[in-house]
Amino acid sequence: MAHITLKEIAHSYAGESENPEDFALKKLNLTWRDGGAYALLGPSGCGKTTLLNIISGLLHPTRGQVLFDDEDITGLPTEQRNIAQIFQFPVIYDTMTVFQNLAFPLKNRGRNKKEIEPRVIELAKILGLEKDLHTKAQHLTADSKQKISLGRGLIRKSVNAILFDEPLTVIDPQLKWELRSQLKFLHKKFGFTMIYVTHDQTEALTFADEVIVMYEGKIVQAGTPEALFEKPEHTFVGYFIGSPGMNVCACELQENRIVIEGHELLLNRTYTAVKATEKVEVGIRPEHLSLAPPDTNGLPVKIIRVDDIGRHKIVRVALNDKEFNVVAPELSDMTGDRCSLQFDTGHTNIYVNDHLISGERM
Ligand code: ADP
Ligand code: MG
Repeated sequence: MAHITLKEIAHSYAGESENPEDFALKKLNLTWRDGGAYALLGPSGCGKTTLLNIISGLLHPTRGQVLFDDEDITGLPTEQRNIAQIFQFPVIYDTMTVFQNLAFPLKNRGRNKKEIEPRVIELAKILGLEKDLHTKAQHLTADSKQKISLGRGLIRKSVNAILFDEPLTVIDPQLKWELRSQLKFLHKKFGFTMIYVTHDQTEALTFADEVIVMYEGKIVQAGTPEALFEKPEHTFVGYFIGSPGMNVCACELQENRIVIEGHELLLNRTYTAVKATEKVEVGIRPEHLSLAPPDTNGLPVKIIRVDDIGRHKIVRVALNDKEFNVVAPELSDMTGDRCSLQFDTGHTNIYVNDHLISGERM
């Protein structure tokens, strides 16, 4: 196994080009640690599959290099990279039995029966395919077929990495949760490097130790689920992660003061060197906002909607045309639709041109 480095990788499906718009992947640098559990998270079309195919060798990048450990393997074909890839839809042999399908990657590499059999049975157990081992794949449901695909990807012990490209799309929601925890268990047990592509934040955050968030062909943040939640480095990360996502609102900024719609808030950090021409926004998660009776400290807002989602309420409030979501435990002490919106300054982030700036603690 090896660590995998992407060095100055960029890809244009139109071939080398002067036009940045042609690039489905903008320039990126990234190292995947040997044995890490990663998720590649981003909306449809942001370049996740392109990136995965460059790692596996299905695509040759327009620019840059792929390194396994420190060896440049950009020119190596897929078969020589020792990588398993699992796609959105099952790739299996319909006329073979489940056993034969699972055994195929090992048999193909000349392994003997003594080695193959226990491994196939072990994986079939983990994936819940045990009772179907001698059934032909064509007779199985879409769920089970995709389980075979997963099994084929996991069957070899010494792969450099296993790449999953939205593999649970065809799986029924309840089974999804179960399979995801099994993948996590397999990661712990076998120590493979796993890269799991998804557009679903819950899948990404529950599977991975480190999540790489992509947006419009770029990596906007790589970090632990906690870091993505607590300190989104880009407004897109704040918005994409969390339910509902981070509130992002235009503001004016002077040192430790922000002004929203003419109302001032004081922060516990001070920001200098922000040019007047730049786009300045405040970002705060709904969990870090709270509501107080009207005419207390805070922004004077109007409640426009309350959604009760069980454990807590999500309150939508407005200050003129600026709207915020607030996670509130109870609203029992609220009368009328006016209240004060209070910011937890320890969790209030400032973004300049969509990028987090850190400021200085006061
Ligand atoms: P994702 O997997 O995140 O949904 P993709 O990597 O599939 O995104 O696609 C990234 C961008 O590249 C999209 O704009 C898509 O339309 C474009 N693209 C993907 N595959 C091809 C292709 N074979 N030829 C041309 N453009 C492509
Ligand atoms: Mg894709």
